[in-house]
Amino acid sequence: MRLKLEANRKIKLSTLLTGLVATSVLCTALILLLTSYTAEKQSLLNTTLTLNYSKASKMSLTVDSLFKSMRASLRSTAQFLEDNVSTDYSEVQSHLEIVNDMNRYFNSILWIDESGVIRNIAPDSIGIQGQTFTEKILKEDMEAKKSFVSSPYIGPTGRLIIVIGEPYFTKDGAFRGYIVGTIYLREENILNEIIGAHGTDELNSYYFVVDREGHLIYHPDKARLGEDVTPNPFVRKLISGQSGKGIVINTRGKEFAAAYSYITEPGWGIIQQTPTSSIKERLKDSVQKQIVYMLPPFLLLLLLSMWLAQLLVRPFVSLANIVNDFSEGKTISLPSLKSHWNREADFLNQTVTLAIQTIQMNNNKLAHRAVTDPLTGLSNRRALTELMEDMAVEGKPYSLIVIDIDKFKGINDTYGHQAGDEVLKHLAGAISNSVRDGDSCFRYGGEEFVILLPNTYEEDAFKMAEILRESTENTISPVGQAITISLGIAVYPTHSKSPDELFRMADKALYQSKNDGRNRTTIAKS
Ligand code: GH3
Ligand code: MG
Ligand code: MG
Repeated sequence: MRLKLEANRKIKLSTLLTGLVATSVLCTALILLLTSYTAEKQSLLNTTLTLNYSKASKMSLTVDSLFKSMRASLRSTAQFLEDNVSTDYSEVQSHLEIVNDMNRYFNSILWIDESGVIRNIAPDSIGIQGQTFTEKILKEDMEAKKSFVSSPYIGPTGRLIIVIGEPYFTKDGAFRGYIVGTIYLREENILNEIIGAHGTDELNSYYFVVDREGHLIYHPDKARLGEDVTPNPFVRKLISGQSGKGIVINTRGKEFAAAYSYITEPGWGIIQQTPTSSIKERLKDSVQKQIVYMLPPFLLLLLLSMWLAQLLVRPFVSLANIVNDFSEGKTISLPSLKSHWNREADFLNQTVTLAIQTIQMNNNKLAHRAVTDPLTGLSNRRALTELMEDMAVEGKPYSLIVIDIDKFKGINDTYGHQAGDEVLKHLAGAISNSVRDGDSCFRYGGEEFVILLPNTYEEDAFKMAEILRESTENTISPVGQAITISLGIAVYPTHSKSPDELFRMADKALYQSKNDGRNRTTIAKS
């Protein structure tokens, strides 16, 4: 019964080994990726926050000093008017225009007198000179007669503006209104020029600026200018004068890594923020790159493990095949069980080799015993039967000589059974010595022997039989006297083609020799 090694449904050792290696490599790669992703995420987030904080702080200082310069410029204008100029329209106008052209801090500079009337405006092309400010927002500021910065509002020309004002007093201390600078939030202005120049970086980070009430006064998206962004928690912190950094969700529900810095002088706040989606995108790129780098060594490792698994499994499969062949009775050539570099496989090889050697040796012994007569060492009756059958299959001619000791019972009776055995051994030796190479001798049973002479016809067989008979009768046997034998000869295929019949005919010829007085040879009758 042959075991079906390939067909059964159990897991193959090579598959198991390869799977094991693949799984462990995959798990290691995943853990590595996860660890590096987490570490990189944290590091990128920290770096971004630190960088944003540093940028926001610097920009806050820049805007602060800009604001101080703007305010100083307005104050010096007020001072100049106070020192040098009467309230004559054209003198004031020309001074305002010079200042406006020179420092470009503002989109326009105005003198609004104490009753809220626009006395001068540079550039005069704006054409609102002589109008009165009715907006509540400015009236309130102006009533306080102190420096002020407005929130964004729609000015008289319909623009979204903020205004910065410095009070103007005459030498004798009379309040003459304000020197006011305006910034057109949605047009080219000083804030755009300074902050906007930085643009966005590769992580799409950007600045925005809020005033002290949380309105946007600078933002890359101009449509949002003036918007109230106080729902943003960082904006609320800015309004209360704090600076800091962290993750924030803005008023539109988007997440940012943001840093905020308070701008002391105007009480504004600046935020530099990076969308966390950009950070995640960069992390995704990095993970993809790592996977690409990991893939070739991973595949190589997999191929290597598959190759190794095959190498490891090969001796076991070959052993199984050999044992299978052995169990089917095939002859195993033991050198096929080579030594193996794997300790277990080599051990198994040696054990199986030893087991097969021992079994083969025992088998040979048993097989030899099965066809050998223990007393004389000649082949037995079974061996004769097998040989005759084989000869019949081959169809080659041969002669059969059947031999029987004469009056052997008497020897036993006279000298004892043991002496009889010695005689049997003696005759067996004599028979063996008398035959040629290729002839076979058998002890058929009791005191009967057979010689099979291949390619021999009756004449030669008869000669051989006679030589044996004569030498026996002339040789002293172990009991101290010579014995005689009677012989019968039959020839294949002359006398019969059937082994049984041929033997019967030789036996019959032997019987004839006995009847004719013993110690003679008779050839079977055709
Ligand atoms: P014949 O001339 O007619 O052959 O006379 P015989 O006495 O040889 O014939 P028989 O068949 O009457 O006797 C055969 C004897 O061989 C009987 C038996 O005791 C003896 N014998 C058979 N096998 C053995 C054996 O293995 N050892 C010994 N010692 N004797 C054996
Ligand atoms: Mg007999
Ligand atoms: Mg006899």
